[in-house]
Amino acid sequence: MADENPTLDSTEVPKPDLNRICEQCGREFVLARPPSKQGHGRWCSKSCAAKARPKQLIPIEWRFWRSVNIARSVKKCWPWTGARDAKGYGHITLFDSQGRKIGRSAHRLAFELAFDTVVPDGLCACHHCDNPSCCNPWHIFIGTYSDNMRDSVQKGRIGNEAFREQKRREKQEK
Ligand SMILES: [Zn+2]
Ligand SMILES: [Zn+2]
Repeated sequence: MADENPTLDSTEVPKPDLNRICEQCGREFVLARPPSKQGHGRWCSKSCAAKARPKQLIPIEWRFWRSVNIARSVKKCWPWTGARDAKGYGHITLFDSQGRKIGRSAHRLAFELAFDTVVPDGLCACHHCDNPSCCNPWHIFIGTYSDNMRDSVQKGRIGNEAFREQKRREKQEK
């Protein structure tokens, strides 16, 4: 999957809408707690989720969150407990309606399921927390490839030499 799209800049990055209406009681609520406590963003509370479940809970969500070690707090990392790739990112295999396999990044899917949104092709699901296996949607933001690079440099993931080299090049271009 390509993570680079030079035509998009940060101002165009979509921000998920966190306002929700409970599918069981109709109350408005804001997504602010782990999906396990808020009925996967579809119900306002555990009790509403319990009334609606299991017939309305889609299997992907159920299967997905079962493989995440969800902490009690949104401040903590929620590690993926399933398969990981060489870089430590979680990986899940889903099947489409024709039964074909679709491989998905776990953290990207976590963000999409929790906030009921789609990370557009060409944009990254980046980690604030620098923890590749983390599936806490509040630790993930949609960014461009260059946002992710800048983030890496600021946090020291990429060596200072590479950063200085990039700065030198930017100066020359001005
Ligand atoms: Zn409710
Ligand atoms: Zn995290």
